[in-house]
Amino acid sequence: MTYAAFYQESIQDPQGFWAKEAQLIDWHKPYDQVLDHSKPPFAKWYVGGETNLCYNAVDRWLASQADQPALIAISTETNTEKTYSFAELHAEVQRMAAIMLGLGVKQGDRVLIYMPMIAEAAFAMLACARIGAVHSVVFGGFASKSLATRIDDAKPVLVISADAGMRGGKAVPYKPLLDEAITLAEYKPAHVLLVDRGLDTMQIEAGRDVDYAAARAQHMYAQVPVTWLESNAMSYVLYTSGTTGKPKGVQRDVGGYAVALASSMKHIFCGKPGETYFATSDIGWVVGHSYIVYGPLIAGMATIMYEGTPIRPDAGIWWSIVEKYKVTRMFSAPTAVRVLKKHPSELMRKYDLSSLKALYLAGEPLDETTSSWIANELGVSIIDNYWQTETGWPILTVAHGVEQTSTRLGSPGIAMYGYDVRIIDENTGAECAANEKGVVAIKGPLPPGCMQTVYGDDQRFVNTYWSNFSHEQLYSTFDWGIRDADGYYFILGRTDDVINVAGHRLGTREIEESISSHPQISEVAVVGVEDKLKGQVAVAFAILKKPELAETPEQKRALEAEVMSVVDKQLGAVARPSRVHFVSILPKTRSGKLLRRSIQAICEGREAGDLTTIEDPSSLQQIQAALKV
Ligand code: ATP
Ligand code: MG
Repeated sequence: MTYAAFYQESIQDPQGFWAKEAQLIDWHKPYDQVLDHSKPPFAKWYVGGETNLCYNAVDRWLASQADQPALIAISTETNTEKTYSFAELHAEVQRMAAIMLGLGVKQGDRVLIYMPMIAEAAFAMLACARIGAVHSVVFGGFASKSLATRIDDAKPVLVISADAGMRGGKAVPYKPLLDEAITLAEYKPAHVLLVDRGLDTMQIEAGRDVDYAAARAQHMYAQVPVTWLESNAMSYVLYTSGTTGKPKGVQRDVGGYAVALASSMKHIFCGKPGETYFATSDIGWVVGHSYIVYGPLIAGMATIMYEGTPIRPDAGIWWSIVEKYKVTRMFSAPTAVRVLKKHPSELMRKYDLSSLKALYLAGEPLDETTSSWIANELGVSIIDNYWQTETGWPILTVAHGVEQTSTRLGSPGIAMYGYDVRIIDENTGAECAANEKGVVAIKGPLPPGCMQTVYGDDQRFVNTYWSNFSHEQLYSTFDWGIRDADGYYFILGRTDDVINVAGHRLGTREIEESISSHPQISEVAVVGVEDKLKGQVAVAFAILKKPELAETPEQKRALEAEVMSVVDKQLGAVARPSRVHFVSILPKTRSGKLLRRSIQAICEGREAGDLTTIEDPSSLQQIQAALKV
């Protein structure tokens, strides 16, 4: 079947299409109705059907591959490596589930998971899924205040955590941050279950805190049956990255999510039982949920959980893992590839990468230089994919499991099946013509796997995502994009990253693309800064490939002028940044997204805002210093 026919079927006959895809998972009770869209924009998939995510990820594989690897936990921080077979994972998950039940966790209760990338974090997620508890994983890099907000929003009866994580060879304590968060929060969880890794001493609060190793020892032979859940029961709550402001609690279902993952593992990621999948993300993000924990296991693959950076002990580490575990499919982010690019390529050429079939990248725009570099180094397809915490699986990419559609540099790809993607004029809601810029939107209903609602706030879900063009039930991604005549999309930035220069609306991303095409620029951030005359002007902060080329003020000025003329030529003088500053690092979230709002705040003399997710605070000092020159 051609992809075009496959896609058309998903749009013309969603019920028939998704009924077929539903056969990719095991159901305890068949569903009565594929889709209930009687209260739009809410969509209920597989109404009346009963299934379980943990069953599909673990139990289902026991008959055929109990002794094959399921979870491979690698830490280059503690120098440990452990492989759990499906049978061992099954036992660990039941132990964890028994501990939870013993602590009074019931179906529908929330369990907050604040953990480093260790196997127990996956056990905890799967154990929640097993007993019908709702997990809310909070990224381990968050500080007390962000954690407290999420505790108050999710109201977990139990928090699962650890003494510490480790990063770059240093222990990063979790427990004191958690204690502080619980003090700050209005809501108080009844229990805290703690994995003691022996990295940091912990202050234990008697009656509340429970030691995981001791509790596990009491449940060595635990057998905890799967709780069958109606397809639309809640599986988890996950907060968006907060790049543009207050994070939204994305609530997801059980059946639709399981089907969407099984389906995407087959058609997009082409995973097969017995193979190994390696996603370098963190369980705190949606990629970690969909493609570290649930997706690969639902597909019967072994999945790698990695604690560490891409460059320790050296920049060859990921490739040594690919060689050792014969990884076939790998998932990462452009940021990580840019980090690797700064290191000698010999380090990756040392390893046998013949098992690797494709590298998938997502999370932020993939620039052409980075994409070509890594494609050349690895000699495999590089597949960009565009999606959001809200959707749970790719909106735009190519589905090589259906057809070998070619990729196009600079484009994350074509619309994925199930997504009726539209480019919309933000003022009228009308569809834009080919190559005309508009808001990337999806006509409702959203396919299986996407968010059900904003946790605890249906109205916020409707207002935030759907109310803009209510005459046609369009979901807004809040990203700008264009579609070319062949159906390839190009993402041009976020709708709130728009600069208004003397009445001209410009996407920061477009200006960044243009600046990046200068041969000396390796990375750049553009923000809109208030200007008395023009309303706003664009200001750029760029990283040079060779910093020594702009050491003196004269060199800097010359290079700045060159960059400006590139923008002039490509986009026109209206898009020309008023200043181009040179820095060696840009402020990013721990998930690799540019913190434009913080850069903008500093440029406008305001406080940088919520910085709890920032990767390296010294990046902000560089922005400040650059502005003074
Ligand atoms: P918040 O919504 O809280 O501001 P966020 O949008 O950064 O945070 P995520 O859901 O993690 O939270 O990120 C999704 C966004 O990341 C997309 O809307 C898009 O802006 C960007 N993105 C993801 N993948 C790609 C890609 N392949 N190309 C371009 N942009 C991408
Ligand atoms: Mg978003």
